[in-house]
Amino acid sequence: MKLRDIYSKNKTNISFEVFPPKDDFDGNKTDKLFEDIMILKKYNPALISVTYGAGGSNKDNSYNIVKSLVEQNINVMPHFTCVCSSKEQIDSYLNDLIKLNIENILALRGDEPQNNDICYLDFRYANELVEYLKLKTDFSIAVAGYPEGHILAPDLKTDIQNLKKKLKAGADIIITQMFFDNDKLYKYMDLLEKENITQPVIAGILPIISYKQLEKMLTLAKVTLPKKLTDSLEKYKDNKDDIKNFGIDFATEQCQNLIENNIKGIHLYTLNKAYSSSKILENLNYEACI
Ligand code: FAD
Repeated sequence: MKLRDIYSKNKTNISFEVFPPKDDFDGNKTDKLFEDIMILKKYNPALISVTYGAGGSNKDNSYNIVKSLVEQNINVMPHFTCVCSSKEQIDSYLNDLIKLNIENILALRGDEPQNNDICYLDFRYANELVEYLKLKTDFSIAVAGYPEGHILAPDLKTDIQNLKKKLKAGADIIITQMFFDNDKLYKYMDLLEKENITQPVIAGILPIISYKQLEKMLTLAKVTLPKKLTDSLEKYKDNKDDIKNFGIDFATEQCQNLIENNIKGIHLYTLNKAYSSSKILENLNYEACI
């Protein structure tokens, strides 16, 4: 089912994000990922999305996971980045996806290399990729949104103007970067409404699984941590189980509040682990909420 149809319904859809495991020389990590996906499948996700490295760095692994999910009749949404890629490379991967009968795609620029090498080839920003996808494919297109602004944007207002370019080019939905303060999302949605943006906003929720992992992710994004969260992180950060359980409770509260506010979708960043996402959905009694 296409994104525009999935999110036109009056309910909160759940989706999951997974990534191709790194350094999976013997395939064990991928096997484990599929075991976890089978657990997540029980919650009838609207879709599962699969990340894709900037410049196509993990193209083959990403493709193989997408293909396996298609074979298991899961509505899969590949992520697709354009930075550091030529039109030929992009065409070649798009043709592979088209052959899989994929219906949806998350169109991204991707992070530029950190060594100051400018390597955008044929596409510099995601809006150019969206335009190209509209021209070449029949995909329903998702794009990224940043409730607190993209880390490199001068301010939120400018970032929203840039988001508008992706929507004008034909994107159907917006999936947000992780956030930990729902009020930031609601304020963002108000700003989008003032700009006459009507596409559904899907809330990206990260269940905190490990303190180290969170710290790493925060270096790549502009995200505020509310005091309640920083206090608890300080308290639990040295105990792996405590931090995981706290992460489940915190994300459950966030999701509960989002459902009460009729958000169209919650996109759980699973970090390839079913445990926390499953617990959150059980806590929410998810089937009963929709
Ligand atoms: P853009 O929309 O192009 O924006 C990038 C920056 O440029 C912003 O600061 C924006 O304000 C500015 N900008 C945009 N358009 C213009 C324009 N026309 N003129 C001037 N300035 C402009 N990364 C990966 O590598 N792989 C993934 O699989 C992946 N999945 C993600 C999933 C989600 C839900 C999210 C939120 C992010 C994901 N990312 C992923 C990270 C993303 O690639 C980075 O945040 C990247 O830096 C920006 O991508 P974008 O598509 O938002 O870029």
